[in-house]
Amino acid sequence: MTNYSCIVVGGGMSGLSAAYALYQRGVNVLLVEASEYVGGAIRSEQTADGFSLEHGTNTVTSKAQELWDHFEDLGIADQKLVAAREGGRRFIVHNGAPTLIPMSPPAFLKSSLLSTKAKLRLFAEPLIPRAVTPDENIRSFFTRRLGTEPAQVLVDPFVSGVYAGNPLETSVRSAFSSMWEAEQQYGSIVIGMIAGGRAKAKAQPKPKGPRPRSVLFTFQGGLASWPNAIADALGPDRVWLNSPATGLRKIDRGWELTVNRAGQPETLTADRVVLASPAYVSADLVADIDPDAAKALRKIFYPPMAVVHLGFRREDVEHPMDGFGMLCPSREQRKVLGVLWPSALFPGRAPEGVVLTSSFVGGARVPYLATQDNDTIIDMVIKEHQELLGARGEPVMAKVANWPRAIAQYFGGHDRILTAVKRMEAMWSGLYLIGNYRDGVSVGDCWKNGRALAERIAEYEPSRLLEQAVATT
Ligand SMILES: Cc1cc2nc3c(=O)[nH]c(=O)nc-3n(C[C@H](O)[C@H](O)[C@H](O)COP(=O)(O)OP(=O)(O)OC[C@H]3O[C@@H](n4cnc5c(N)ncnc54)[C@H](O)[C@@H]3O)c2cc1C
Repeated sequence: MTNYSCIVVGGGMSGLSAAYALYQRGVNVLLVEASEYVGGAIRSEQTADGFSLEHGTNTVTSKAQELWDHFEDLGIADQKLVAAREGGRRFIVHNGAPTLIPMSPPAFLKSSLLSTKAKLRLFAEPLIPRAVTPDENIRSFFTRRLGTEPAQVLVDPFVSGVYAGNPLETSVRSAFSSMWEAEQQYGSIVIGMIAGGRAKAKAQPKPKGPRPRSVLFTFQGGLASWPNAIADALGPDRVWLNSPATGLRKIDRGWELTVNRAGQPETLTADRVVLASPAYVSADLVADIDPDAAKALRKIFYPPMAVVHLGFRREDVEHPMDGFGMLCPSREQRKVLGVLWPSALFPGRAPEGVVLTSSFVGGARVPYLATQDNDTIIDMVIKEHQELLGARGEPVMAKVANWPRAIAQYFGGHDRILTAVKRMEAMWSGLYLIGNYRDGVSVGDCWKNGRALAERIAEYEPSRLLEQAVATT
């Protein structure tokens, strides 16, 4: 039986990133993935009728040079598509109409998104006292600090845009930790941000040349080009598809993992195991090892979500759709969380003369909407397009991707769940857990966290320690 240095369970971006960074550092690694494809929540499709669809993650935002180097290394840098300038134009549905989010102070003063009273109230933010609640929800935190209107009009849609979350349940401490820390340390978000920016500038002297700018990107063949390129680089011997992990046991020297490879159970051993599966799967795998950590992991809610792609003839939609898309605050009581306009951002997303929209339904705010049958969901979303964007007639294309358990939610008490996980990792040497329920849900966060864990693991790789011992003798 082969003994691996490290086995990674789960081929989403968290697991792929960890596995690839371990492989680059010479670690004998195997990745096992339950489904027939890698990428997890990144799933792209090129349809026969000329649409390029993202059923999960739509775009990634980054300015990290390490990420551009990683794409060079994978040989996919030249396939990267950076969003058109329209990517900076984002809309919020306000009083039933998409309204541009102002991006400069003069535009903000002129914007109709907030009343004059609400704009003036923002200046009082530094005067608002700190909270005494240990784990406040996002709605309460921002209402207290910024006022009711900004919390409901600006922050609420942002929470559904990033987490498909519900601001009444999402913990500010876990989901918006920098804002929470700013309040704790400086008594104000504004002062905390200014102080944080200054400290950062002092710690990292300004590099020569133009400052790197965040860009929004995808790939010509869709975002899945990225996970697919990682899997190709690792090769089929190091990436097993259709191979769910079903059991994990501590043995004398490391770990024993049972994997159902294409229907056949196989027992593998490894010095270390990284569980990069969703929290509810990792919970089952650690249930015998640490029942308390398993119980904590099971508490993490993954709400259902439906992604609805519609293609309309350009002339059948009144709104120019000249931007990233629109988000809907809860108080507008719409049936969609938001609608993205991919064909405005990237070439080749829809056939000539057709516009593509991708709408998000359900999430933690209104989960039941995503559990209806797909015909009902499509009709509902078409009606939203008629009312919000002035769409007429039938779409030329309609397709739904269903996510029964979409994105991990950082609800109140999330820090206690992570404390239980950290305690388990401290007690069981060689067992590590990563995934979007920890340190950020974005694909960029998952990539960064997977790499960071691999660096930590590779530090203690026996061959590396031996090399170091030889070098010092
Ligand atoms: C609809 C949707 C839209 C999103 N949009 C964006 C966006 O635009 N931008 C952005 O940055 N982020 C977005 N996200 C969030 C982001 O995609 C995810 O948080 C991130 O990709 C999660 O990566 P992960 O590896 O932690 O988990 P996952 O991608 O969930 O990967 C976990 C993997 O584990 C596998 N697995 C499960 N059980 C087992 C088992 N027993 N054995 C082996 N493998 C197993 C699964 O099949 C899966 O491949 C979106 C998410 C969704 C669902």
